[in-house]
Order: sequence, then C-alpha cells, then structure tokens
Amino acid sequence: LYVEHPLGAGQSVPLDRDQAHYLFGVMRLSVGAYVALFNGQDGEWLAEVAEAGKRGGTLVCLEQTKPLQLPPDLWLMFAPIKKARTDFIVEKAAEMGAARILPVQTEFTNSERIRQDRLQAHAVEAAEQCGGTYVPEVADLQKLPRLLDLWPAERQLMFCDEAEVGNALQLAAETQKVAPWAILIGPEGGFSEAERKRLHALPQSHVVSLGPRILRADTAAVAAMTLWQQALGD
Ligand code: SAM
Repeated sequence: LYVEHPLGAGQSVPLDRDQAHYLFGVMRLSVGAYVALFNGQDGEWLAEVAEAGKRGGTLVCLEQTKPLQLPPDLWLMFAPIKKARTDFIVEKAAEMGAARILPVQTEFTNSERIRQDRLQAHAVEAAEQCGGTYVPEVADLQKLPRLLDLWPAERQLMFCDEAEVGNALQLAAETQKVAPWAILIGPEGGFSEAERKRLHALPQSHVVSLGPRILRADTAAVAAMTLWQQALGD
C-alpha cells in the first residue's frame, strides 16, 4: 500500500478513509493483520494494523522488507491521446521503471489538457501492483518546443519516429551508455516536419525506428521502453 507518510521502525501511519475502506472493507483485514507499505522514499516496510475503523485507522511499522530501489534515470515523454490509452501509457511506464513521466503537447496532439492528479494516481497504483518501492512523478502537460529549449545538456534523447531507420539496440555503442536518458513518443498524427527538424537538430537526440510497422502510440511507448531497457538499462 502506498502512503504519504514517513516510514521507520515503530512509526505510526494514519490511514485516510479510502485506505481504510480498501484494507478493512475490500481486503477484510482487521487489527493484528500485516500490510506492506511504501512511500517512494523509505523502501518497503512490514506494518501491523493497530486500529481499524470505517473512516480511518492506524498501522505501525515493524521492519523494513526492501530498501528503496530507484529506477534508472529515464524520462518517458509522450503526447497524450485518448483517456484510456493515456492511462495505459502511464501505467506501463510506471511498471517498466520510468523515473519521470512527461506528457508533452506537440503540434498534432489532440488533448490540450490532462488530469495530472488522475495520472499520478495511476502511477501509484501501478507501482503498488508491481511491488515497486518508487513512484514516478507525472509532470503537467508541457509544450514540446519549451521542453526542447530547456533541454538538459547531459540527457540523451531516444526520439522514436516511424519515418526513420535507426536501431535502438545500437544506442549503447553510440553513446557509451552515458546516462541519463529520455524517450519521446509522438501523437496519433505523428510529428510535424518542423518538429522533426527541431528534434534532429538537438545534439542529444538519437532517432530510432521501432520496426517496419506504424505502431499506435501506446504500443510504441511499451516497445520503446523495452528496447531501451535491453540496450541501456541496468
Ligand atoms: N503519423 C503517423 C501516421 O499516421 O502515419 C503515426 C504516428 S504513431 C501512431 C504515434 C507515435 O508512435 C509516433 O509519433 C512515433 O513516436 C511512435 N511510433 C509508432 N510506430 C513507430 C515505428 N515503427 N518506429 C518508431 N516510432 C514509432
């Protein structure tokens, strides 16, 4: 269970209404039951239910069961698409160990707005589901040109474009595995010519193909993260 509270030996952790409903209503736990907790900073802790109510409760931390496992410093940047597919991208990026998830607005991006809080909640759920101890931050929607204007000098960019032929598995040799990295996936309409030009001009950009077929953006995000993991992950 993810909590926004410090974790440590003997630490009491208060539960809000939703957490109490989940643990005591849905999971049917009661006083004395054990729960695994993480907060994205202190690793995973085994905790015992000390108080169980309908509107809240208290857990007490017993011992650390996993240290904090930070993912590699990888950003996943993608242009938001339909709600369910955007949710899917955030969920899979969190499962696959992105450190940060950045929705970007490109020329052909359909959505002008995202619900950052909803997407962050999806990232928390995904981290809970896969036993992670870290939750990636989901940033607010940012415009691609602004992101590129402020691009950090040390960060390499895997720019995924169906119009290209670059091989992602060769990135390690090309860059001597320098970290950190970002992956960029475009919207359903792809990138505009002006965006392509700008992305090619960025010195840290490495354009790659994800194969001969045009993948949907959500499929492309998973394929790109898998290839990155294989070529450049730990
Ligand atoms: N505009 C394109 C079209 O309609 O022909 C399709 C864009 S595709 C649905 C969405 C995004 O997924 C692309 O901008 C790209 O980042 C990524 N993508 C999809 N297939 C790819 C491939 N074979 N190689 C590299 N990137 C791909």
